Formats: sequence, C-alpha cells, structure tokens
Amino acid sequence: MDIQKLSSAIRDIHDFPVKDIIFKDITPVLQDINLFNGIIDAIAEEFRDKKINKIAAIESRGFIFGMPLAVKMDIPFVPIRKKGKLPAETAFISYDLEYGQATIEIHKDAVKKDEKVLIIDDLLATGGTTDAAIKLVEQIGGDVIAAAFVLELTFLNGREKIGNKSAEIFSILKVY
Ligand code: AMP
Repeated sequence: MDIQKLSSAIRDIHDFPVKDIIFKDITPVLQDINLFNGIIDAIAEEFRDKKINKIAAIESRGFIFGMPLAVKMDIPFVPIRKKGKLPAETAFISYDLEYGQATIEIHKDAVKKDEKVLIIDDLLATGGTTDAAIKLVEQIGGDVIAAAFVLELTFLNGREKIGNKSAEIFSILKVY
C-alpha cells in the first residue's frame, strides 16, 4: 500500500458542505484502480484471520469500500442506511455529526446474535457515526470486533467517542 500516493489522492475541499469544514474528497482514489485495490487488500489483510461473519458499511461512501472488501474476503455484506431507505423491519439510532444530525438504520435480521461484525466507512472524523453504527449493530445482537477506515482525522479524537473500547479501530491513513 503506497501511503504517500493515497495521501496525495485525497483532495481537500474547503467550506463543503458548510463553512469551515475541510471536506476530504476520496473520489480521486476511485480513479486509480491500483490504489483502490491496495486499500481493499490492506483491510482484507488486517482482518483475514479474525473470523468475521459480516461486513457492515455506512451509507454511502462506506459502501464504496465495504462491498468490494466483502467480495474480496468472501463475507456477507450488510448496508447501514440513512433513515427511510431500508424496506424491511429496521432498528435505528440518532446521533450528532461533525455538521448536523442524523439517523441510521439496519435491517433487524441482517446480523444474527453474536455474529462478529466489521464496520467500514471512508473516514473517521468525530467518531459519532461509528459509535452510532456500533451501537446499532449491538442493538440487533451483533458483536462489533472492529471498525476500519481509509482515513482518520486524528485531531478530532474520534476514537475517544467510540463507546465500545474493545473494538479495534483500524485506519490506513492518519491525518494529524
Ligand atoms: P464522524 O461521525 O464525525 O466521525 O463523521 C464520519 C462520517 O461523516 C463519515 O461517513 C464521513 O464520510 C463523513 N465526514 C465527516 N467529516 C468529514 C470530512 N471532513 N470530510 C469528508 N467526510 C467527512
């Protein structure tokens, strides 16, 4: 995994979606398939021997990395979606974002009791989304053993906000 290449492929967009936020745009990473494959391989390698039963990813950029990872690792995929998108019976949780508020949902039957779950998102910022996603999976009986990210904004101390202290937090690139 060429970390320098990954770092230069992630583009800073100032004042998006609101003033004073520096948005980390990962779309240039998707233009470089070797780089993208490197990301998927690095996460797959980290979790290869950890007996994961489900990969759950957070809409929508989490899906971009989560589904290819699930295919690569040969593990079923579970979407965590914004409120009102999932058609069957759901569990839900509301939480605060770096900018605004949100509610996420999961199908109640998507994870069975005590199944080991790996959560995927593109970026760890304040940690609110990941903390909520972990609680959501736990609500339906899952055991979240880890969360993985392409990028972590360490200065926002997202790890501290994650209530489940036994879950491994893995990020490929850290921005200090
Ligand atoms: P947080 O709950 O603060 O950890 O935010 C994580 C979620 O919001 C992830 O799904 C990110 O994709 C998105 N996000 C938060 N801050 C940023 C940022 N500065 N640039 C890009 N995406 C962000």
